[in-house]
Amino acid sequence: MSEPTGCCCAATTPSYCDHCDLLVGLDGLHVVDVDKTGHGVLVVTMESAPTQMGCPTCGVVAESRGRRTTMLVDIPCFARPTRLRWRKRTWRCLEPACPTRVFTEQDEQIARPRGLLTTRACRWVLEQVRREHASIHGLARQLGVAWKTVWGSVQPILATLADDEARFAGVTTLGVDEHLWHHVSPRKRGPKELTGMVDLTRDKDGRVRARLLDLVPGRSGTVYKTWLDQRGTAFKAHVEVATLDPFRGYKNAIDDKLADATAVLDVFHVVALAGRAVDEVRRRVQQEIHGHRGRSGDPLYGIRNILRCAAERLTDK
Ligand SMILES: [Zn+2]
Ligand SMILES: [Zn+2]
Repeated sequence: MSEPTGCCCAATTPSYCDHCDLLVGLDGLHVVDVDKTGHGVLVVTMESAPTQMGCPTCGVVAESRGRRTTMLVDIPCFARPTRLRWRKRTWRCLEPACPTRVFTEQDEQIARPRGLLTTRACRWVLEQVRREHASIHGLARQLGVAWKTVWGSVQPILATLADDEARFAGVTTLGVDEHLWHHVSPRKRGPKELTGMVDLTRDKDGRVRARLLDLVPGRSGTVYKTWLDQRGTAFKAHVEVATLDPFRGYKNAIDDKLADATAVLDVFHVVALAGRAVDEVRRRVQQEIHGHRGRSGDPLYGIRNILRCAAERLTDK
């Protein structure tokens, strides 16, 4: 008996269902089955429609050799870890002189050859890490795989992106700041201090969209100098304004390598320095008057926050 409410999965003849294909959203692949494992993992079986295929080497029409199944980790679906079971088509080249014997269906839009995650799952992981501050550990849990499966899949992509020098183009305002990476032993987790380079160039609307360009281990003028030298002469000549935190080493690097740029102390650090100076004076006067450090009830201690308050926020009182 035919099943009137059934989907593609209920069909007896191989036909594809537009609804299921739309739901999964992988161009060129059709859903042929959806199942659930005992561990609550959703398994979506997909395949491409049969067509004639030419050999990638010689172009002669190849003979179909059936399908070979590949399991891929996909983005979680409806809060369930999801696997994509891709029934890849295989062919054999019939041309005797051709070095290619058997070849398998490939589509980099779906997954890289020998990849464990789908291309879109890799992209999803990167977006989650970049924009949502997700950890690889947490994402691995959501995907239902080991940490190293996720990291092994995205690390090569990150390495390629890091090697891409295109992001350094058009930088006219360059910021540098130290970054404390962790607070445990450097022997366990590598160097604590990093130097971060940020693109602070204004866009055509005059807005600053801080863009992290690089992070390199260490906090010294030498680190910054080396990094600037690696960017090359054209990059350095392009920088008009170089901002920095009040650290002598970075200033030396700017004087040395970005001689034509204007060095600007960034406002956060200027305010922090001014605030610290006011605090020091307050503590010194406190000691001179009372001979002990400020505590509740001391007038100077009571106004410690008012002293550091911006002028426009002060009331008559
Ligand atoms: Zn369907
Ligand atoms: Zn061939």
